[in-house]
Amino acid sequence: MSILKYAPEALKNLFKPPVTTKYPFEPAVYPEGARGHIEITIDDCIGCGMCVRSCPCGTLSVDKMAGTWSIDRFDCIACGYCVEKCPKKCLTMVEGYQTPGAKEGKVTYTKSPEQLEKDRIAREEQAKKAAAAREAAAKKAAEAAKQQQPSGLEQAAKK
Ligand code: SF4
Ligand code: SF4
Repeated sequence: MSILKYAPEALKNLFKPPVTTKYPFEPAVYPEGARGHIEITIDDCIGCGMCVRSCPCGTLSVDKMAGTWSIDRFDCIACGYCVEKCPKKCLTMVEGYQTPGAKEGKVTYTKSPEQLEKDRIAREEQAKKAAAAREAAAKKAAEAAKQQQPSGLEQAAKK
């Protein structure tokens, strides 16, 4: 009874093309919406650490001064939170899965020397501006304190 029930389906399948692809002999086909893996445009990264804080697996690390961003690809679950949180939109989900391997999957990306130099100059300018602002504030406070002090004539009049 059960053979008769499935026989038409089995016969139909004999004449249908296979539903699977012959990977790796044919290229893999990723369904729409497949998450793939994370890639970074490292020169656009500002080292804010938002991605690190949003990652539920603790697989990311960033070193702002060194201009590096690291990911352990075997720990990543491709949830995409880091992509959503990045304020510079320098993280993207790229089609294709992480290649399996026996070694640790940590990969570190480093900014280009040109970008590292630009960052250094920007930091120096920022530090100069901050120092100038502190100096101006101190000067203003000293002038205000001076104006509040009674003059010598006023002090003599009080006596
Ligand atoms: S995709 Fe998810 S698990 Fe992978 S690095 Fe980003 S936040 Fe972490
Ligand atoms: S959130 Fe984006 S800009 Fe910030 S450290 Fe991560 S990758 Fe860099």
